[in-house]
Amino acid sequence: MQEVLTAEASVDIDSDDALLHSITTEAPHEAAALFAAARKVRERHYGKDVYFRGLIEFTNYCKNDCYYCGIRRSNGKAERYRLSLKEILDCCRAGDALGYKTFVLQGGEDPWFTDKRIVELVTAVRGEFPEHAITLSIGERSRKSYEAFFHAGANRYLLRHETACEEHYAKLHPPEMSLAERKQCLYDLKEIGYQVGAGFMVGSPFQKPEHLLEDLRFLRELQPQMVGIGPFIPQKDTPFGAYPAGALNLTLRMLALVRLLLPQALIPATTALGTISPDGREQGLMAGANVVMPNLSPRETRKLYALYDNKICTGDEAAECRYCMEGRIRRFGFTPAMCRGDASGR
Ligand code: SAH
Repeated sequence: MQEVLTAEASVDIDSDDALLHSITTEAPHEAAALFAAARKVRERHYGKDVYFRGLIEFTNYCKNDCYYCGIRRSNGKAERYRLSLKEILDCCRAGDALGYKTFVLQGGEDPWFTDKRIVELVTAVRGEFPEHAITLSIGERSRKSYEAFFHAGANRYLLRHETACEEHYAKLHPPEMSLAERKQCLYDLKEIGYQVGAGFMVGSPFQKPEHLLEDLRFLRELQPQMVGIGPFIPQKDTPFGAYPAGALNLTLRMLALVRLLLPQALIPATTALGTISPDGREQGLMAGANVVMPNLSPRETRKLYALYDNKICTGDEAAECRYCMEGRIRRFGFTPAMCRGDASGR
């Protein structure tokens, strides 16, 4: 039996009942004990370090139609943009000058960015920044495409599975999208040699505690190096525009449970967490997260990468985000770490 013990709490991570109890409990002392246990595990592997990743949202065109997402193709109200290679490189340069050693290139599934163009982009960033980590987050592609990006110099890939339950997946996505394919992408990416990030939204419409348990089970099987967890937040021009946002406390408990299940995982305190609560990201760190992803996108386009409403930090310059995050982290007793922060440990 694999048990994670603290003075106040023990969670048997092999037991579905125990996990479901932690997922559903509203008892403040139980949550506090869970967060303390998660912090302890995080500290054992990563100390007080919080890794910085510079996020560049380089296109909001998307061919997919996920019901929850503000940049879905059917959202005619979304004003579309696409950064040029030069603009993306300028973001990287600004990030490098601020000390970032990881660039996360994220976007909708934009067909304009053919494999050839992504390879060109990755090659250019790799050429100018030979030591940096390059993370891609551009959705589902073929194994061959993933291989080409890897050989061009990409090291990491973020692709949240969104929910590990088939039935639930079908309620969040149009029929042409499939969980099996998304999972296959994750296994392919891992096999190719990427450090892989999976993850899910908390409180998405129709989600039940059993779905969250399935998410934990799937993560344990996949063993990703990174896990992105954030609350669902409605975007008014989507089919889910009238649904409530995911709860802060449930999100924090899920984050803590993932830390216990995958002690070495790199787990971001997400922008979505900071959007539902002013100190959501700090609370995320206190529940076991150890990564932050401040924005490096040009200020003019930030508001347009509107996955959900009221997204924070859309008016700030890259430097403001960098130093704001640093202050927040230090106030909570953590140490900003500008190194690459690879999954293999420190
Ligand atoms: N196209 C890429 C990047 C998607 S955006 C991909 O498919 O992986 C990154 C993440 O934002 C998504 O994986 C999703 O989990 C999250 N997201 C999208 N809409 C959201 C919403 N309304 N609330 C909270 N998170 C959302």
